[in-house]
Amino acid sequence: MSQSYDTVFVGSGLGALASASLMAQRGQKVLVVEKHNIPGGYASNFRRKDFTFDVSLHSFDGVVRGAHSFKVIEACGVADKVEFLHHPTLYRYRSPDIDITVGHRDLEGYKQTLYRCFPEEVDNINRLFAESKRNYQDLCGFLYSPKPFWMRFVATPFAYPRVLRYGHETVDKYFSRFTRNERLKEVLSAQWSYYGLPAKDLAFGYFSYPFIDYLENGGYSIKGGSQALSSALVEVIEAHGGRVELESGVQQIMVDRGRVTGVVTRRSGPVKARNVVANVSPHAVVGLAGKQHFPSKYLTRLDKLKFSVSGFQVYLGLDCPLSELGVGPEEYIHFFSPGKTQRTQFEHIQAGELHQDNTSWSINYFSNVDPSMVPPGKSSLGLFTLTGPDVWHSLDKLAYRRKKAALTDLLIANAERVIPGLRDHIEVCEAGSPRTMTKFTQNPQGAIYGFEQTPQQSGLFNRFPQKYPVKGLYQVGAWTFPGAGFIGTMLSARLLVDRYF
Ligand SMILES: Cc1cc2nc3c(=O)[nH]c(=O)nc-3n(C[C@H](O)[C@H](O)[C@H](O)COP(=O)(O)OP(=O)(O)OC[C@H]3O[C@@H](n4cnc5c(N)ncnc54)[C@H](O)[C@@H]3O)c2cc1C
Repeated sequence: MSQSYDTVFVGSGLGALASASLMAQRGQKVLVVEKHNIPGGYASNFRRKDFTFDVSLHSFDGVVRGAHSFKVIEACGVADKVEFLHHPTLYRYRSPDIDITVGHRDLEGYKQTLYRCFPEEVDNINRLFAESKRNYQDLCGFLYSPKPFWMRFVATPFAYPRVLRYGHETVDKYFSRFTRNERLKEVLSAQWSYYGLPAKDLAFGYFSYPFIDYLENGGYSIKGGSQALSSALVEVIEAHGGRVELESGVQQIMVDRGRVTGVVTRRSGPVKARNVVANVSPHAVVGLAGKQHFPSKYLTRLDKLKFSVSGFQVYLGLDCPLSELGVGPEEYIHFFSPGKTQRTQFEHIQAGELHQDNTSWSINYFSNVDPSMVPPGKSSLGLFTLTGPDVWHSLDKLAYRRKKAALTDLLIANAERVIPGLRDHIEVCEAGSPRTMTKFTQNPQGAIYGFEQTPQQSGLFNRFPQKYPVKGLYQVGAWTFPGAGFIGTMLSARLLVDRYF
């Protein structure tokens, strides 16, 4: 073996890049191995004609100087290399009975809006937000404390009690502590598609951080797309002596007597390492290392874990500015919700019955925030819906193409109802299906958020752990604690390094 590293990363998603940047800055010799020809996993861009699209990012919570989430950006060494562009408004929620806009960093304004929609709930709304803010402070205390991880862990019941008190409840159960109004609870969880489950099934412990972070600190895009963040992280890694090997891929994780000894990569062959950090699904890790290295109970438990839902996104490049289509500069994300409960919608999503009367969908007016990604005088937007994975992966080529075209058409038809004449201005149209997600990340069943975030699979105790029962083998990114999302995966990197390196 010619090369030897302290730590090798399998995959270059945000979780791996953030951890590698932290470790490289601490003097570790790191190698990041990526299958694709660009780094970043879901946090990357693609081009069609003169339009550049961000593969995934709709909204990155809290990345403003002084806010907790920004500390992760600073720690990774990219605070001055990346520009975060705040969204003009956090989101607009549109359903048959309610149409509200939530302003940028305007929690008080949001509460006023809720008072108007639910006048009999004023006290409950106040109590709910007061406690949710205290819970957010507890969470931030735990996540960002400079104290060693074990100390924070031991101190949790006294110093951060809400982390334990609410950590294993669903969002709905938590909201029910303050209100019985079902409609209010649904409106409060309008962003549920970001977490992949309806409020009645979604873990509050996972939801509660971004819930307040978005409202207090805002939603952001990254200037130049999320590729700019991934590339900046690569720059930090390389500036500190690390290496990122693209168009390669880990073919084997080598284990000897219960300890990792390195990996075999497609480009470099065998590479020695003291530690291996996986940024791919734990099922892939078991496949790369060999089942024989894991206790059978561990594998049985792993097989019982449920994957998150997948998603379908249409990326449109338009031949005119958005203003010409009647879209104001204050618009960014619109969530459209039919007059059905989130749970019923989720059943339709899982069954692939995606229709605007059945399921929520959303529009992101990308170029209203970053016009530098489109040619002058043109614009771009994204249409998004969650979708169940099974219906996609089992189709033959022709059936798959038809299904992809039909859902693209359906989402454009939905959008035309709110942007009349949209179809006449489409210059570029691309779509990403669950199969596309798997193709470019290898994530099974097109999972876009790792394991599903139910209370049974979420939180400090129940999330898939960062440490494997093989010495020197670790997990980072969406599949482990705290979970998916730009801040979620970067936090998982910070916790991994704080705790084990
Ligand atoms: C459509 C969409 C919209 C989203 N919107 C948002 C949003 O608005 N806000 C937000 O915060 N989050 C959002 N997310 C979630 C967020 O993008 C992800 O949670 C996050 O980027 C996942 O990062 P990760 O570290 O888990 O790695 P991943 O992005 O899953 O990357 C894993 C990497 O491993 C590589 N790999 C796989 N197998 C191998 C191998 N054998 N060898 C080497 N490399 C390998 C893959 O090629 C890939 O690059 C969205 C996701 C999607 C798909």
